[in-house]
Amino acid sequence: MTKWVYTFGDGQAEGSAGDRNLLGGKGANLAEMSNLDLPVPPGMTITTEVCGWYYDNGRSFPAELADQVSAALEHIGKLTGRTFGDTERPLLLSVRSGGRASMPGMMDTVLNLGLNDHSVLAMARDAGDERFAYDSYRRFIQMYSDVVMGLDHGVFEEILDDEKARFGHELDTDLSADEWKQVIARYKQTVEEELDEPFPQDPVKQLWGAIGAVFSSWMNARAVTYRQLHNIPAEWGTAVNVQAMVFGNLGDTSATGVAFTRNPSTGENKLYGEFLVNAQGEDVVAGIRTPQNITEEARLEAASDRPSLEKLMPDAFGEFNNICQRLENHYRDMQDLEFTIERGKLWMLQTRSGKRTAKAALKIAVELAEAGVITKEEAVRRVDPASLDQLLHPTIDPHAVRDVIGAGLPASPGAATGEIVFTSEEAVAMAEAGLKVILVRVETSPEDIHGMHAAEGILTTRGGMTSHAAVVARGMGTPCVSGAGSLRVDMRSETLLTVAGPLKKGDIITVDGSTGQVLKGAVAMLQPELSGDFGQIMEWADAARRMKIRTNAETPADARAARSFGAEGIGLCRTEHMFFEGDRIIAMREMILADNEKGRRSALEKLLPMQRSDFTELFEIMKGTPVTIRLLDPPLHEFLPKSEEEITEVATAMDVSIDQMRERTEALHEFNPMLGHRGCRLAISYPEIAEMQARAIFEAAIEAGRSSGEHVVPEIMVPLVGLMEELRFVKARIDAVAAEVMGEAGQKIEYLVGTMIELPRAAIRAHRIAEEAEFFSFGTNDLTQTTFGISRDDAAGFLTTYQQKGIIEQDPFVSIDIDGVGELIEIATQKGRATRPHIKLGICGEHGGDPQSIRFCEKTGLDYVSCSPFRVPIARLAAAQAALEK
Ligand code: ADP
Ligand code: MG
Ligand code: MG
Repeated sequence: MTKWVYTFGDGQAEGSAGDRNLLGGKGANLAEMSNLDLPVPPGMTITTEVCGWYYDNGRSFPAELADQVSAALEHIGKLTGRTFGDTERPLLLSVRSGGRASMPGMMDTVLNLGLNDHSVLAMARDAGDERFAYDSYRRFIQMYSDVVMGLDHGVFEEILDDEKARFGHELDTDLSADEWKQVIARYKQTVEEELDEPFPQDPVKQLWGAIGAVFSSWMNARAVTYRQLHNIPAEWGTAVNVQAMVFGNLGDTSATGVAFTRNPSTGENKLYGEFLVNAQGEDVVAGIRTPQNITEEARLEAASDRPSLEKLMPDAFGEFNNICQRLENHYRDMQDLEFTIERGKLWMLQTRSGKRTAKAALKIAVELAEAGVITKEEAVRRVDPASLDQLLHPTIDPHAVRDVIGAGLPASPGAATGEIVFTSEEAVAMAEAGLKVILVRVETSPEDIHGMHAAEGILTTRGGMTSHAAVVARGMGTPCVSGAGSLRVDMRSETLLTVAGPLKKGDIITVDGSTGQVLKGAVAMLQPELSGDFGQIMEWADAARRMKIRTNAETPADARAARSFGAEGIGLCRTEHMFFEGDRIIAMREMILADNEKGRRSALEKLLPMQRSDFTELFEIMKGTPVTIRLLDPPLHEFLPKSEEEITEVATAMDVSIDQMRERTEALHEFNPMLGHRGCRLAISYPEIAEMQARAIFEAAIEAGRSSGEHVVPEIMVPLVGLMEELRFVKARIDAVAAEVMGEAGQKIEYLVGTMIELPRAAIRAHRIAEEAEFFSFGTNDLTQTTFGISRDDAAGFLTTYQQKGIIEQDPFVSIDIDGVGELIEIATQKGRATRPHIKLGICGEHGGDPQSIRFCEKTGLDYVSCSPFRVPIARLAAAQAALEK
């Protein structure tokens, strides 16, 4: 016979902390606390398996369940000296939900179950306190009607407010027994009127009603949504805990409270919590009365004039304090606790590992490791890498008032305040004038890069989490809200239309890229703080890590930021970004619009010194760590002049007619630029471009080597290779330039030539490509696009639908598609190594900063991951955790 019910209480339990899957988190920890002989009111846990049975069998219960529940009730009765349903010494119960993973607010607890018109008299007599008995009864009617019978609790609150006004009371605790009786009469009448049935008086009926309600709540809309958001499978089910009541509302020697063994927002090792005298559980969080501090120290700090638990009930406090320490040591983690004091006697009602901020997580992990409670490795594993994002950007002060005027997607974390501008040119101009600006666009394109760099924050009204604005902003570490559909940009009148009225250029807004909110005006901010604990965890993580962490950076600012975050090299320097800035774009346009090699070479000559000085600076900043530079990659299409003004500008610079210019521009137009004339195809059509870039790289390497005294070994990366012959062709040109420069300088240069693997053909033919390539860098953004045949820029709309309809679980542009793209990476890794055993392998897509993808890279045995500067600490930690998992 299946065991559906597990009892606990009186220093023992049928389950333990290890039975989380069967008993749920709450049930398993109640059992564990009983086993530790802590004061836990006796009770039973109806297992999560019953939940599964319930749904598999048309919402009914297994036949043996009723008997098992009765037997457990008898056991609880023996331990408490009471009987469920009795009218002399009635046993009252709490009915509580509790799944494997905590799901806050999924279902409300029902307290004081078993009360009716008869047992309330017995409770009053027994406790010698009539007010207490009727206070409990009215609470029970309120909760049961709401949670089990579906009657909105608002109606009861209205009645209570009404009656309090009539009696002239301010607080619930002021009501006398007689007054509560009158409230209860109105409650019962309302239930009958609203639901056409009287409030149930039979305790057994009450109990099964509550058990059924908990199981049903597993499938309510709130719970289903919560599970989807947190990847909790529906099969897990919830358990039901039925437990003897203890009473915090038995007068002034009784209380109820919640506490953390350490401060959950700062991590400080001090008991932290709140309680209320003469109250039951939900009162503390309901905000009906202001709770009091648990410790005297906290009371003084808060300058509260209401006594602390420490002062008010020193014995119960002392015991509680000891239990807190015991539980923390037992679970080896900060605990979140719920307790009740009944006439001076302490009862423990819940313990679990407490939720905490990133800052607290770091501090707690470091302190527990330093105290020898956990190992350093465990400390490293305890911190969620993604949560570090909170610490790497300015954030809005949690106490600040938020005047929200719109909302979009939290595309790039952190918050920024500035004046609204609508064009990138304005952003640059105003930033140069020393103003802080927020760039507001419908969406952004590669031409906005300079404006995005100049802006403090970015707001778009269209586009998803992987839109251009979102991807680029994350890479730059610039806060960004994308796809704020409730806002409208009117470019003609330079106005941002919001629910709070129109905003003009120069008006101040704040974007919160961590929540997606757009706020009016400036808001108080907290600056990022890489505290000692952060550094300590990073140090321990570095000791555990195998893979190197590089960064994707092309600007000196990004490279410096990445170095300060611990980057060990550059994995991707995109040279095209260097061509968009200032008057470089004109020289670039001259180059691509020239109709012969001579014209191209003369434009390239102008670009050479600019490239060289860019690279020199990067090499100097990176101090001899490896720097991978990718040759020009994007479709020429992207560089073409668009407006009449731009066409005229280039025509003048090149001394050709505007008509000729327009013709040439049209000739270069492509239908599908992403799959067009780009990548190494450019270097094959126009080898002089690759040659200029190679020369700039080699000359810079020599220069930086001299100025910094570091040995610079550049890694030149040829993009979008599908055929070994493509790489062979381009590599020959690079080698020739190297020989030339070495001859000129009279100095040897060490360098590597490799390729990005971003086409399925390249992955499949990796053994051939490795004949030429000294390294592979997996360009997983393009590899994902080309493997799926999906354009990332257009995917936001339908990929969300895919996720909603369960076709895919995760956006493959955020977390690597291990089954498809991942398999290609594995194939390329094996085949590449078969040809060249020590070939360097890394990844440089957005995935390089995603903890799940990093785990995959560790398993595959890559040498490094490369990510945007602001994700470097996240990658360091994630790589360490991945290495520790092995
Ligand atoms: P949640 O999961 O929402 O925290 P709980 O099941 O922990 O719900 O119950 C909420 C509160 O109800 C508890 O913090 C406690 O104050 C009160 N409560 C639960 N069980 C009992 C009990 N047996 N006796 C007294 N109070 C209880
Ligand atoms: Mg709780
Ligand atoms: Mg690419």
